[in-house]
Amino acid sequence: MSAERARRTIATVCLSGTLEDKLAAALAAGFDGIEVFEPDLIASPWAPKELAARCADLGLSIDLYQPFRDLDSTDPDRFARNLRRAEAKFQLMAELGTDTVLVCSSVGPDAVDDPDQLAGQLAAAAARAGERGLRIAYEALAWGRHVSTWDRSWDAVRRADSPALGLCLDSFHVLSRDGDPAGFAEIPGDKLFFLQLADAPHMDMDVLQWSRHHRLFPGQGAFDLPGFLGHVLAAGYSGPLSLEVFNDVFRQAEPGRAAVDAMRSLLWLEEALALRRPDLGTTPPPTAPALSGYAFAELAVDGVSGPQLADALGALGFAHTGQHRSKPVQLWEQGRARVLLNASVVRAAGPGVAEVAALALESADPARSAARAEAFRAPVLPRTRGATEADLSAVAAPDGTEIFFARTGPDGWPADFLPTGEEAGPGAGLTAVDHVALTQPFDSFDEAGLFYRAVLGLEPESVTEYAAPFGLVRSRAVTGPDRAVRLALSVSLLRRGGWAPGVPAPQHVAFSTDDIVATARALRAAGAPLLAVTGNYHDDLDARLDVPPGLMAGVRECGLFYDEDRRGRYLHLFTEVLGSRVFFEVVQRIAGYDGYGEGNAPVRMAAHRRLRTALEPERPTPS
Ligand code: MG
Ligand code: MG
Repeated sequence: MSAERARRTIATVCLSGTLEDKLAAALAAGFDGIEVFEPDLIASPWAPKELAARCADLGLSIDLYQPFRDLDSTDPDRFARNLRRAEAKFQLMAELGTDTVLVCSSVGPDAVDDPDQLAGQLAAAAARAGERGLRIAYEALAWGRHVSTWDRSWDAVRRADSPALGLCLDSFHVLSRDGDPAGFAEIPGDKLFFLQLADAPHMDMDVLQWSRHHRLFPGQGAFDLPGFLGHVLAAGYSGPLSLEVFNDVFRQAEPGRAAVDAMRSLLWLEEALALRRPDLGTTPPPTAPALSGYAFAELAVDGVSGPQLADALGALGFAHTGQHRSKPVQLWEQGRARVLLNASVVRAAGPGVAEVAALALESADPARSAARAEAFRAPVLPRTRGATEADLSAVAAPDGTEIFFARTGPDGWPADFLPTGEEAGPGAGLTAVDHVALTQPFDSFDEAGLFYRAVLGLEPESVTEYAAPFGLVRSRAVTGPDRAVRLALSVSLLRRGGWAPGVPAPQHVAFSTDDIVATARALRAAGAPLLAVTGNYHDDLDARLDVPPGLMAGVRECGLFYDEDRRGRYLHLFTEVLGSRVFFEVVQRIAGYDGYGEGNAPVRMAAHRRLRTALEPERPTPS
């Protein structure tokens, strides 16, 4: 791999749709080859030769045929039948023009336990494959009856000692069983026939269910894939880097998007390896420039939601400092917190709905940020749609939010705004954007985490889940090294049905303050539309945690939410929902508190629901 990059391959099982859909998606995302998942071929009207011809036309190689299950058997008659089945698949592979078949360890009650008998049966099948110039890559399923670890599969391959028999290493099967990839060093490189890569979240569950439903692309889960790949390559593996991911969401997601997500994961993995093992990796893409904060958050508004948001910002202590030279865009400022209200964004949101349209991030090198984004397959947006006329590069995040790379200065984007004469004063003490929280579409939560990780260099935090009034919610933040940029992503654990009384896909922008009690008093005096907190919440808080009495008095008086972690405390408050979807949060982080008060979200959601019921007639739920 050091001289030339490894081939990039994807198993058709990773993607939704028919074989036609999958080939088109893999090709468009830039893959070199595919693994043909047998059920995809069986369901296809294309004969193997026809599929081979189509792949050849597209320039896609077929790097593996998979899986062949339950080869070995303690019953000689059944083993003979299994060999006949294998012969039929070898014939098919010859027509398909692929030379490697994955044989996974057996799970049936007749699976062979005796190491020499198992090696003998594998050797018998490999001899038949070898006669046709084919190879068997033997994989230990983590739930195999007798062979469930990579060292057990290597023992069988070593004993069989057949040139047509080697190993398939699958990162999920190895890492889910806490296997040590450092042990691969003992395997000769030419016995490593194939490599399948998958990540997964930490879970404490049956390993088969874990594998079939929760695999993720590298960089989306908790496994150390760069470390794993480093050991495989150091052992001399020179074949393709192939993704094999079974995932309930990806299986139903649009295959073109999923294939790009998959490609991004391989690019991320290759970079992570290159940084950790320069001897093994290829030249990495441009590193992510440091991000030092939010230049602005831009909200798309219309004639209904615009005035509502402007009133709220005014009451929060923001000043309307600038008006765009040529577009209906307002600049609101307080400290280093900047919000644009843009009435010219054309989006599909319904009338009266406000939403986060764009986030501008302060980059040490905007051009390099944009180059990196493009290298990681982020969709680059035309420059005409932005709120500003400055030469800002923008890419689209998976949920459609536009991400700008900016540098705030007199020659930068603020020059697009004519001063209104209003000055940004101390206002209510808000100093900057602390974080932005975006509900993700059901299909793109894991994709979004990897997008921000790979494209922006933000690192994912641990996942939290909570029971909200309208269903379970999963949340994960991505943050920069010094926490200057924090993004909190959340998603419903299940695809939502029609009964959606909560705020649909809520988004919020959180501002920091150094003294939330003083800020809260100022906001109340200014008539800001603050969300009331229940007495039950405060009583429970008082019972559950040792909040210092003086602080607790302020929390009750100002109607604050409270959280604490190992390091410090978090005081926060919310506004009502504005423009049907957006609200603001004010936060004070004390002594390095590093979370987002997720535990308080159910109380906040219930309060928002109660207000909606009181303030608005029930609106039809978008499907
Ligand atoms: Mg596998
Ligand atoms: Mg928040």
